[in-house]
Amino acid sequence: MTRTLVDIRQDFPILTREIHGHRLVYLDSAATSQKPESVIQAIDHYYRHSNANVLRSVHTLAEEATTLYEDARRKVARFIGAKTSQEVIFTRGTTESLNVVARGWGDKFVQPGDEIVVSPMEHHSNLIPWQQLAQRRQAVLRFVELNGDGTIALDEVRRVINAKTKIVALSRISNVLGTINPIAEISALAHQQGAVMVVDGAQSVPHEPTDVKRLGADFLAFSGHKMLGPTGIGVLWGRRELLDAMDPVLFGGEMIAYVDRETATWAELPAKLEGGTPNIAGAIGLGAAVDYLTAIGMDVVAAHGQALGELAYQRLKAVGGVTVYGPPAPRGALVAFNLEGIHPHDVAQVFDSNGVAIRAGHHCAQPLLAWLGVGSTARASFYVYNTEADIDTLVEVIGETQRYFR
Ligand code: PMP
Repeated sequence: MTRTLVDIRQDFPILTREIHGHRLVYLDSAATSQKPESVIQAIDHYYRHSNANVLRSVHTLAEEATTLYEDARRKVARFIGAKTSQEVIFTRGTTESLNVVARGWGDKFVQPGDEIVVSPMEHHSNLIPWQQLAQRRQAVLRFVELNGDGTIALDEVRRVINAKTKIVALSRISNVLGTINPIAEISALAHQQGAVMVVDGAQSVPHEPTDVKRLGADFLAFSGHKMLGPTGIGVLWGRRELLDAMDPVLFGGEMIAYVDRETATWAELPAKLEGGTPNIAGAIGLGAAVDYLTAIGMDVVAAHGQALGELAYQRLKAVGGVTVYGPPAPRGALVAFNLEGIHPHDVAQVFDSNGVAIRAGHHCAQPLLAWLGVGSTARASFYVYNTEADIDTLVEVIGETQRYFR
């Protein structure tokens, strides 16, 4: 039976909070999502009943912990259509995953003069690792320029990608513009030139069905905390041949096959890329989040989020003195905006005093804000527990903010 969104809201204990005497309206899920009871309980249960280090000992607790940890990996693998759970590497999050690719694959395979293609809409996490890699390897960083509405045209991609392109690194969904990029088509263009496609899925994996084969990705990075899971856990998925070929980035316990005084050899995947004790509870929590999202259905999650994103865009566009960024549709579950003559931080302050959590700032996308010609924006973002009533509140508080500063 399908559950209504009201039922879903009841799963999130934090949503009963009052902020400054108002019902909490949480519109900052693009920064981090709230957590349902089942995720909180999975973590709690692990620490109360099965806490032990993984992969190391034969005692009962260690075996339970290892089973829970590896179950979580299998759940994630299924969730993104990975061929095998060995292709799922647990990391701290999107940022770490992308850095691991840049170091572990990039340092080994990128040669002087090779080109790395990104776009101006990238989060700093999907830009700075490539800037740094380009500097280390004397490679060239190239940009696919954006259309006026913040979308990417395939002709522009064709213009930029060429035989020298080694890596194409793009986000599937922009955390500021809400743009949904045609990654499958771009992957095909990258592969025609022999390049590797790296996808920043931080904003997409939480919000749409993900199939790494359909995306044509070679690497996919995402974070647990934006998809109802805990902080400090994320995923690097990679095609097995690429993960096998790349070098580890963290050296130490659990990632080795054999060590002597002078040298060491590496364990099989995924251990090779998971040096040290991992975030076991985090992975288990992420597994519970995957279960929760799967039970709703990612098609339902995507339709709901995109409908809210598009509705918010339309509603804000209709208000005088409001600038809204990015394409009207299709768009992800967020909307970035500015109110004429009012600093976004002041906007966020008035929102907070009304119990509404939004984000203000550069959203870790300074080159994109430079492209937009602003220093910062406000951003409202939505998830499964948001409703159209929250968008009514968003519009009402915008009116209030404008009256307050008039
Ligand atoms: N890429 C995008 C598109 C994001 O929105 C974010 C989070 N704001 C990141 C990367 C980085 O994620 P994390 O901070 O969890 O590593």
